[in-house]
Amino acid sequence: MKCQTMSKISAFAGFYKLPVKERLRIVKEFANLTDEETSLLTNTGSLSIELADRMIENVVGAFPVPLGIAVNFLINKRDYLIPMAIEEPSVVAAASYAAKMAREGGGFHTTSTSPVMIGQIQAVNIKDPYRARMAVYGYKEDILKKANEQDPVLVSLGGGAKDLDAKIIHTPSGPMLITELHVDCRDAMGANAVNTMAEAVAPMIERITGGRVYLRIISNLATKRLARAYVTIPKEAVGGEEVVQGIVQAYHFAASDPYRAATHNKGILNGAIAVVIATCNDHRAIEAGAHAYAARTGHYTTLSSWEKDRNGDLTGSLEMPMAVGTIGGAIRTHPIAKIALKILGVKSANELAEVITTVGLAQNLGALRALAHEGIQRGHMRLHARNIAIAAGATDELIDVVTDQMVKERKIRMDRAKEILEQYRKTKP
Ligand code: NAD
Repeated sequence: MKCQTMSKISAFAGFYKLPVKERLRIVKEFANLTDEETSLLTNTGSLSIELADRMIENVVGAFPVPLGIAVNFLINKRDYLIPMAIEEPSVVAAASYAAKMAREGGGFHTTSTSPVMIGQIQAVNIKDPYRARMAVYGYKEDILKKANEQDPVLVSLGGGAKDLDAKIIHTPSGPMLITELHVDCRDAMGANAVNTMAEAVAPMIERITGGRVYLRIISNLATKRLARAYVTIPKEAVGGEEVVQGIVQAYHFAASDPYRAATHNKGILNGAIAVVIATCNDHRAIEAGAHAYAARTGHYTTLSSWEKDRNGDLTGSLEMPMAVGTIGGAIRTHPIAKIALKILGVKSANELAEVITTVGLAQNLGALRALAHEGIQRGHMRLHARNIAIAAGATDELIDVVTDQMVKERKIRMDRAKEILEQYRKTKP
């Protein structure tokens, strides 16, 4: 009995120091795994167990996710194949379909800001925070120099700490002076680089402000690292004027209601995150940034906009923070991420950010069109079925009975309407 209780304890000192095999043995015993189950865990495919063990802690296996290729993408007049790692069905198909519609209007177009991330340094217990803020600005060049000394590689590539801001925030713990480093991260996502810089300048900030520094960390609300994508699709390619109208109204619903906006943005992230994962970028960073950006006015709303242009065509745009890299983190370690980047053929982190944002916009279009179009189609089908039911002789409440049955069966025909009527009359004289 004692032994059984012992085997269910999850507190293992030094679990991280054990070899993978030993960890696996413990987990197997704890969870009563079969030999087949443990061998599935260690059968890690292209990500060797040794490499996985170097990437994170306490490794016992790897977790495979399907990798699909979205086709038809034309971005800034260049064709791309898009690797997407995702478990959800329909996403890759919807992205490909939306990209096909977009081709009819010349494809997608993109822009982006410089790849600048914000690193925050929190200083507290400052007697005169407004004077301290001015002092931080006064020492700007020294602070930036100190930050840049931490990353000569990044500086040699034209990146590094370029500017700073200082703001006072009022909190339940009193006023705080937040210094924000603006770091051009070039082709890196930049969290490690920025955190290192923020830590290095912290003692200087303490000296300048007379306060105490606590947090020194990157912000995932990357408002200085935005990617944008836009597209115009001829109304015929979308499915006609009514579908354009339906999509615009679906967008207006989302833009006005946070409950719908969350799902609208989830659709965007379905596409974007699948590419972020395929390239082994940090999807938590992108998701956190996306939602914070969607709520930046104090009201959570959509990341994208959809309009009908002067020709009656559909035009959509998406702007979102996109802190992704083509170097750094696990990007050049993970064998599949390297292949995904090769398939994409992107030359810089900015290009990758723009492609990912485009996939987000395409996914959004695919979802909105399905919602608007299906709704419209169903409406049409119902109207048609109702006419047939009446023509077959249905009256009063029988019109709805026959209509519902035909729509349910997707068999909207006179002979079927007559059959349903007959059956109904037999059972209910
Ligand atoms: P990194 O430190 O591995 O690589 C960046 C470094 O690569 C740069 O500092 C530079 O010295 C060098 N480099 C070489 N060629 C470069 C080029 N062309 N462009 C830019 N830099 C080049 O990684 P990172 O990008 O600083 O950090 C990313 C990692 O940090 C991710 O794994 C992420 O998950 C993790 N992380 C994220 C957060 C967060 O988002 N809040 C916090 C901590 C860590």
